[in-house]
Amino acid sequence: MNILVINSGSSSIKYLLLDMRTEAVLCSGAVERIGEEMGNLSHKIAPGTMGESQVSLSEPIANHEKGMHLVIALITDPERGVVKSKDEITAIGHRIVQGGDLFTASCLVDDEVVAGLEKLVPLAPVHNPGHLAGIRVARELFPGTPQVTVFDTVFHQTMPPRAFMYALPYELYDELKLRRYGFHGTSHCYVTKEAAKFLGKPVDDVNLITVHLGNGSSMCAVQGGKSVDTSMGLTPLEGLIMGTRCGDTDLAIYPLLEAAKGLNITEINDLTNKKSGFKGICGMNDLRDIHKAVAEGNARARLALDMFGYRNRKYIGSYMAVLGRVDAIVFTAGIGENDPVSRELSCRGLSALGVELDHERNQSGERGARDIGAKSSKVRVLVIPTNEELEIARQTAEVLRAR
Ligand code: ADP
Repeated sequence: MNILVINSGSSSIKYLLLDMRTEAVLCSGAVERIGEEMGNLSHKIAPGTMGESQVSLSEPIANHEKGMHLVIALITDPERGVVKSKDEITAIGHRIVQGGDLFTASCLVDDEVVAGLEKLVPLAPVHNPGHLAGIRVARELFPGTPQVTVFDTVFHQTMPPRAFMYALPYELYDELKLRRYGFHGTSHCYVTKEAAKFLGKPVDDVNLITVHLGNGSSMCAVQGGKSVDTSMGLTPLEGLIMGTRCGDTDLAIYPLLEAAKGLNITEINDLTNKKSGFKGICGMNDLRDIHKAVAEGNARARLALDMFGYRNRKYIGSYMAVLGRVDAIVFTAGIGENDPVSRELSCRGLSALGVELDHERNQSGERGARDIGAKSSKVRVLVIPTNEELEIARQTAEVLRAR
């Protein structure tokens, strides 16, 4: 069974083809700058293996349809293709950012699902139109192939109302579905299952705090394998301090910004999503650059790092209060998997709550799933590499099996 995972944005299509017998990645790539004067396609065959090879193209790519045609041509190329024809693709899994409260599970795409996604565009104006473009083209080009939507929000659909409601007038929830949805659900779901395996416990028996720290960052309180709270909200802006997003702030800042700086809502949205977080504090959004700057004595970079660690710590502490019993704190994604300093700052001062790091294991350059907690730590501290594409493919396969 070969599953093609597609993450279609407004001007890009990222894709990955997996052989589900071994879960090996046959090929992966990205079509970028769709609709611009010049487009790009980079395609890797057998990525991450000894036999890895790459193909790059630069040409105008007018729309998603053209982009998908190029991808199919590469995947089925008589010489370098990884399959003979597109019929060898058993199913397609589409990553969808916002499923609102219309979608509580991954599901087979039909006209009703497409209509639901269209209805959700006001909640996800940046993401859902790009996903819809990808689904339309994939349905046209693979007419007999089952297609499945896998949502970033679904894992968090188990949050209780006390966690997902905003304390705004209730009518706004009824009328506009304004509530917290949470994101990165595919990643939180994947590392929850992997952490349960690592701990040797059934997944519905684990209580975890999963900490996804990347360019976008979020945390999740997992009780009995299910999300009961998460740091992102109606959009991915809420919660932790991120590469360019501010996370939690006082909403009263916005009218003040309007009055003092003449900024309109669009500009404020841009400011909070694209010019804040690490970037807003020290001008850099990549943590590796921030570390270099800290080493050179840059005080703003130091402040950004301190703020990041402090916010993470506050959330870990509050999720410990939410959960009562915590089996493990699980770090994942670009920063969570690779940066010992961030993990140390996030766990600092939590020994009274039973969280202690083994500093040597935290610093070691080990890869893969590992325990970096001290022997004496009551709460295990794990690093588990995330794999959102594999989780999308697995959920796609599950939906097919359940048909
Ligand atoms: P995205 O949210 O875009 O998927 P990633 O999960 O790839 O982001 O994480 C990107 C972040 O991870 C960047 O801030 C980058 O600096 C950081 N990162 C990646 N590798 C390392 C590393 N070896 N050490 C420290 N930080 C790293």
